[in-house]
Order: sequence, then C-alpha cells, then structure tokens
Amino acid sequence: MELIHNPSDLYKKLDSARNSGISIGFVPTMGALHQGHGSLAQKSVAENGLTVCSVFVNPTQFGPNEDFDKYPRTLTEDCAILEALGVDIVFAPEVAHMYPEGHSEVQFGLKNMDKILCGASRPGHFNGVMQVVTKLFNLVLPNRAYFGEKDFQQLSILRRLAQELFFRIEVIGCPIVREDDGLAMSSRNRYLNAEERQQALFLSRALQMTQEMAAKGASITDINQSVIAFAGQFSLIRLDYFDIRRSADLSAPDSLAPSDLPRAIIAAFCGSTRLIDNMPVFA
Ligand code: AMP
Repeated sequence: MELIHNPSDLYKKLDSARNSGISIGFVPTMGALHQGHGSLAQKSVAENGLTVCSVFVNPTQFGPNEDFDKYPRTLTEDCAILEALGVDIVFAPEVAHMYPEGHSEVQFGLKNMDKILCGASRPGHFNGVMQVVTKLFNLVLPNRAYFGEKDFQQLSILRRLAQELFFRIEVIGCPIVREDDGLAMSSRNRYLNAEERQQALFLSRALQMTQEMAAKGASITDINQSVIAFAGQFSLIRLDYFDIRRSADLSAPDSLAPSDLPRAIIAAFCGSTRLIDNMPVFA
C-alpha cells in the first residue's frame, strides 16, 4: 500500500493504472476509521482492480463552533487498517493541497435537499461536502465511489450531484455497520463517556420504535410525538430533529406508504456530541 499526500503524485499513479484498464474504486473518509469505513473499503477492494481511500478532515464542512480542531486524527492506525483490508493507495492531502492559497471556494447548492434535516442544523455543511467530494472525484476519477447509508442525506445529495453534473462515477451506497447493542459506528462515538455511550442508544432505539409503530399502522404524527416523548427519558439527550422522508428525494410524505420507501432519520446531541442515524421505516 502506498501513502500519497500530494495530488500530482496521485495523478501519476492513477493515470498509469487507468491507462492499463484497471477499474478504480474510491472510498472518501475523514479518518479515525472503524468497521463502518472498513466495510466500504472491503466492498471496493472486492469490486475493483485498485482501491483508493482518502483520509482528509475537510475544514469547509465544519461550522465555526463545531469539532474541526478536536476531530480525531489517527493516520498511522488508519493506514494499518486499510493495508490489512487490501487497499492500494491512501490519499491523505494537507488542507493547502485541497484549498490552495487564494482559492475562491466554488459554492454548491441544491434546490432543497441540502437545506433540510442536517442542512438546516448545520448551515453550509453540505456545500463543504459537495466541494470536497467534487475535488476528490476529479483528482481520483474513480469508476465507483462508496458511501455509507449512515450519512443517508449525504449519500442522497452526492447521488444527485453525480447524476446532474454528469460525473461518470457510479455512486454506491453501503449498509450501516452497528455495534452489538445497535449504536451506529461513528468516529465521533469516541467522544462519548460511559454514561453518554449508554444514552446514545436512544437514537437506534427511537428508530426501532418507529419501525414497530409503523408496522402496527401508527401515523407519522403519532410516531413523531412518541419519539419526542422517548427523548425525554434520556437526561443527556437533546433531540436535534427526527423526521420521516421518502428515500428517493428526501421529500416529506403526508402518510406512510411502503412504496415510498420512507426512511426515519434522526440527529441528537448526546452530551455535547452530535450523533446521527437512520433506518427504513418498513424493515
Ligand atoms: P466519515 O469518515 O465519517 O466522513 O465517513 C466516511 C464514509 O464512511 C461515509 O461514506 C460514511 O457514510 C461512511 N460510514 C461512517 N460510519 C459508517 C457506518 N457505521 N456504517 C457504514 N458506513 C459508515
């Protein structure tokens, strides 16, 4: 496995692979890797001749009061994990490589999808995500790119971006990897103390409750009220939002219909750590 920091070195390496007809799989990450990231890398390694994994904590997707400075940076451990999984190249650029001095920050916006849910709570977040993913896509020019359903809204936005801007890249969504007790794996879980770790189960439990209520014919309003009441039982939880959206375009249905593939999506602060999760309403 090769560790590359500089985009021009990456070009050279990938151009020769591409010219010899090898398919390139790409897994963008912010590092502090866990088995969720590992599942994406594994799938890419299985499906492509060469896999590139990027490790880059992207400053433009963090708000001014968010955790950019304290976000865990564990490149040595990350490289060991990726090498064991058979990844060929780790691309870990510096901020100055991705945003050279004098850059003018191309702005990205969709009509709706990036303004709702996490976009409403974290203004500018998805602009930063679309900026960095577009740059990375153009640097790597992969055949396939792998993203987790853990960030369901991000996956929906990036699918739309790739489709509308004619990126010739297949965007592939991968299932959420969870801890044994149901907590979705996240790099931010390492911020949680023991009590917060216990209460973080609120998110996956609220989503399971949604599935159980929907199976019994409950309405969206009833489910919303129950989730809000359930949050009240967790002293360290502050619900940011809970919502049910159609999978295809994240629009809000008036009622629950399995044909809409409705998805329950949740964000909550657990102590000072913001966590997200989602599940299909009809399992
Ligand atoms: P991040 O490093 O948090 O930006 O995540 C990089 C990629 O890994 C994104 O496509 C995430 O959706 C995906 N990912 C993060 N956590 C999980 C998980 N628990 N299961 C599956 N994919 C995940």
